[in-house]
Amino acid sequence: MNIFKQTIVTGAEKMGLNITEEMLEQFEEYSHLLLEENKKYNLTSITKQQEVAEKHFLDSLMISRELKYFFNISMIDIGSGAGFPGLPTKIYRPDIEVLLVDAVRKKVDFMNKVITKLSLKGVNTVHARAEDLAGKIRESYDVAVSRAVAEMRVLVEYTLPFVKPGGVFIAAKGPGVTGEIILARHAINVLGGQVENIRHDKLPVSGDPRVIITIRKVKNTPKKYPRKAGKPRKNPL
Ligand code: SAM
Repeated sequence: MNIFKQTIVTGAEKMGLNITEEMLEQFEEYSHLLLEENKKYNLTSITKQQEVAEKHFLDSLMISRELKYFFNISMIDIGSGAGFPGLPTKIYRPDIEVLLVDAVRKKVDFMNKVITKLSLKGVNTVHARAEDLAGKIRESYDVAVSRAVAEMRVLVEYTLPFVKPGGVFIAAKGPGVTGEIILARHAINVLGGQVENIRHDKLPVSGDPRVIITIRKVKNTPKKYPRKAGKPRKNPL
């Protein structure tokens, strides 16, 4: 077994995730496409096999662990870039209906290429800014996820409008997130969210710290949010 597959298998085992041979093949093909495309466009700065396996795939699967008790749900990934965490989550959990959103065309094109190559079903992409899309499909997802897109105050304005009341937003962050959450308390409340859980974890191979934050949507998001494209980042709530 090569180093990529070995890292996925041992890492997933430590995380308590059950990876099938088919999933392993799909992860590997995806990583080949990623590294191939990366020669043309800069999609990721992580290029060593073991690092790709851990920092993209296993890191994305950290979110799948939070979805253990959710079945046949819909999930939106905001700012998916080259597909993380939405596509590895889709591969691990084929029962979840996934929408991947990114503001950059070439990234959406790449995700479409992966979807076609791996023949994934029940996963779609949209080329849009989150702020522009929310008007059309607001409060229609059970779960929203996002990785490495913005600080928490901004991120909740991008994501919570898409979540159904009763649903959740799950963010994977680095260890410095505590301050961000305190700063985002007002934004979370205004947008109809409530912090439900903050789980401190570690990546299984390198031991790099990760924090998984779950925010429950407890009431509707007022219609005026999200504000116009660019506003959440320029002037966070
Ligand atoms: N989530 C991916 C990952 O973890 O590898 C990509 C992270 S990348 C640093 C941030 C991505 O968010 C970029 O692809 C960017 O185009 C996208 N993005 C930033 N702001 C956005 C917005 N308002 N709406 C949609 N996508 C956005």
